[in-house]
Amino acid sequence: MSVFIVLLGAPGAGKGTQAKILSQKTGLPQISTGDIFREHLKNQTELGKLAQQYMSKGELVPDDVTVAMVRERLSRPDCKRGAILDGFPRTPAQAEALDVMLAEMGGKVGVVPFIKVPEDELVERLSGRLICRAQGHIFHKKFNPPKVPGICDYDGSELYQREDDRPEVVRNRIRVYLEQTMPLVSYYREKGVLVEIDGTQPIEKVTEAIWAALPEEVKHA
Ligand code: ADP
Ligand code: AMP
Repeated sequence: MSVFIVLLGAPGAGKGTQAKILSQKTGLPQISTGDIFREHLKNQTELGKLAQQYMSKGELVPDDVTVAMVRERLSRPDCKRGAILDGFPRTPAQAEALDVMLAEMGGKVGVVPFIKVPEDELVERLSGRLICRAQGHIFHKKFNPPKVPGICDYDGSELYQREDDRPEVVRNRIRVYLEQTMPLVSYYREKGVLVEIDGTQPIEKVTEAIWAALPEEVKHA
């Protein structure tokens, strides 16, 4: 049976940072719906242009569009063992759709690390976040700076600030998270798969805490 890890947490909690580390350690692919939408936007596809209308305001892309995109992604051969989901699901309807898709594939949600960070720290993290143009590697001006300012440590590409990390948009993203995504905490708690993680610790400590909660079968790359 394939095992899926759902990283849950507010914007800026550290989902993308942890997903990249866990993907390397487990060999499972990272599936970030935000990254996929940004890739579509970069390539100016119809989906990218549609998603941008919501992303620029900090709103969620409609469930039907997002679920169809994830369904296609999960059907690829690299998801046979499972995957690390980062930024999906984000609404109860998406969580229910995920359960149906995984049941069809003979998979399950193995664990849901819920990375908790207080709101004022989220704002500080997002306002200093830097992303690499080539592959979306994540840095922070103060908390996780690149070795050379403005340049990605891993592939040498340029670092940029996401347009939706501007303070006005960040406030709306956090509001949307509280209203639409927070209900997933009780959804997964009731299923017995939620594990609370203190996201205010240093990056390595957060990884250790998540690692301790992972099912044994995903720990072997
Ligand atoms: P998310 O994917 O949940 O929106 P990110 O992984 O992009 O969050 O992290 C948001 C910002 O916070 C990034 O700039 C990242 O470098 C930084 N960050 C991530 N984890 C930590 C941590 N444990 N402590 C301090 N800063 C962190
Ligand atoms: P992220 O990179 O996870 O911060 O996502 C950036 C933006 O992409 C969000 O603010 C949404 O507009 C959109 N997005 C990403 N994932 C989803 C999702 N699961 N459902 C709806 N919209 C999403």
